[in-house]
Amino acid sequence: MKTEADSKCRLCHQFDEIIDHIISACPILAKEQYIKRHDRVCAQLHFNICKETGVQLDQKHWYELVPKSVETSQGGKVTMLWNQRVQTDRTIPSNKPDIIIRDNENGTCMLIDVAISGDRSVIKKEAEKTIKTLK
Ligand SMILES: [Zn+2]
Repeated sequence: MKTEADSKCRLCHQFDEIIDHIISACPILAKEQYIKRHDRVCAQLHFNICKETGVQLDQKHWYELVPKSVETSQGGKVTMLWNQRVQTDRTIPSNKPDIIIRDNENGTCMLIDVAISGDRSVIKKEAEKTIKTLK
């Protein structure tokens, strides 16, 4: 087209506007849009787990759900915690997983912490999450 195209991101003007950058690395989108996306993914996950474990929800669709801090399944077999701090013996900076599923029959918990990253940084994100919970 004989035009000079700027390869820099139209939002941050710092990095090349490639797919990886737009999906998961733009500092402008990170402030709000990535957080919204993360929270919506967590809400859908929460909704589906509630359905699987017998937690009654008022909403028919996941996108209507604003998860409550604590929800318990009918009969009390499972308790779902949303964005709650975990009390630990030692100080752990990242002790607030997105979802905790507590099996009240055997006293075990499953912690779910969601990260949404580009394909190239999946391993890096996974390592970051692991290190944060072990520190
Ligand atoms: Zn950018």
